[in-house]
Amino acid sequence: MFSLKFGGTSMGSAEAIAQTAQIIISHPEQHKSVVVSAMSGVTNLLISAAECATKTDKICYKNYLEEIKEKHITALDTLVTNKDLHTEGKEFIEKKLLGLSGFLHALTVIGEVSSRSNDEIISLGEILSAKLLSLHLKDINEKVEFISLENIVSDMFEHEHIKPDKHFFECFSHKLGKLLTPLLEENITPICTGFFGKIPDGIVNAVGRGYSDFTAALVGKACNATEIQIWTDVSGILSTDPRIVKEAHVIDELSFNEATELANLGAKVIHPQTIWPAVKNNIVVRIKNTMAPNDMGTAITKLGKNSNHSFKSITVQKDITVLTVKSSNMSESGILIDLFQAFASYDISIDLVSTSESSISVTIQNGHKNLSKLVTELEKKYNVEIVHNKSIIAIVGNEMLYNMGVAGRFFSALSNAKININMISQGANESNISAVIAGKDANNAVKVVHKEFFNTI
Ligand code: ASP
Ligand code: MG
Repeated sequence: MFSLKFGGTSMGSAEAIAQTAQIIISHPEQHKSVVVSAMSGVTNLLISAAECATKTDKICYKNYLEEIKEKHITALDTLVTNKDLHTEGKEFIEKKLLGLSGFLHALTVIGEVSSRSNDEIISLGEILSAKLLSLHLKDINEKVEFISLENIVSDMFEHEHIKPDKHFFECFSHKLGKLLTPLLEENITPICTGFFGKIPDGIVNAVGRGYSDFTAALVGKACNATEIQIWTDVSGILSTDPRIVKEAHVIDELSFNEATELANLGAKVIHPQTIWPAVKNNIVVRIKNTMAPNDMGTAITKLGKNSNHSFKSITVQKDITVLTVKSSNMSESGILIDLFQAFASYDISIDLVSTSESSISVTIQNGHKNLSKLVTELEKKYNVEIVHNKSIIAIVGNEMLYNMGVAGRFFSALSNAKININMISQGANESNISAVIAGKDANNAVKVVHKEFFNTI
């Protein structure tokens, strides 16, 4: 059994959806579950519509709803020729958008969007795209069933103490298995929404945007899949951002650890949470390109494979703030706990940490809403310095364990290009080295490091 996930661009237009359908039909694996994202841009349109509603701007949110309706009806007209199926689709789209319009009207009175309301609103993106794909597949006589996961978790939060943690997702996956396995046994392909329900705090807070990847991973785990395929608009995970280095190449295989590092370090191809359900059940995750289905893509496996380079990929994170805390008694026990607790209490997550006898520096994302409160609190005890607009460049790959001199070459490449390094950190598992540099140097840093290690111009 395979779990196939198709992203926004693979669902972006009638042509893209038809291509996605062909990939499903001609897929060599007989049993598969499909998970889809919203048509590209639709989740953002829904969020904008909600913003207009809270500002009581009815004309503005109605325009957004009209745009969403037109996008789906246009696709439906091309994708579904059978009259009954077409009517079913048209009525479905109109009914759902009418319901949303009523919901947004209520928001104009309340004046704000709670996390739960936000979930209710964005769920529509995946509900409409999954319905569209399932109708198209039925139109061409495929055995499929539309499965909306929007209410699947509603009864799982009866007890207030339940949190959307790993244990919860294990139970959730079990529930998914019960729902999908009978269909698979009858050779029916479920077409599921990437949106999986209204969890406390909202899906965007608990999982984050791009949650459909995670849904596909949970479906894979639920149905004992041998492979989770993430179909997107690039042919795999690349050696670096191709907008910075056009010669960036596709990595053919990565280990679960390397992929987790890359996803957490800002490589945008898969959602960071996608990996753990795969790790738990040792399921291969493969990134594939909908527009070039014959490309092999990138396989993410338990052990990965060593490439013939010194590492696999270079990532860059922009808009970073470095916060340095100075104290004459840094070596006193308990200081780190005190600092980290302060960060946690303001809900600010730390990326890199670097310590010395008299100071500790950490990196966080620029513009966190609680930063000034945290600084005021820390300044009661310490000397605090803040520098904005930094970047983190990192090299990632297990090969570093076996190759000597990688760090030396990395830092030399930066210094030869006259790029100043403010902070250095090596991951405890020795599969990444990160350097904090000025934001303005970020692109050049990626170019020179890529050139040094991958021989590109
Ligand atoms: N459509 C949602 C988003 O844009 C979920 C997804 O694409 O995975 O975040
Ligand atoms: Mg995505």
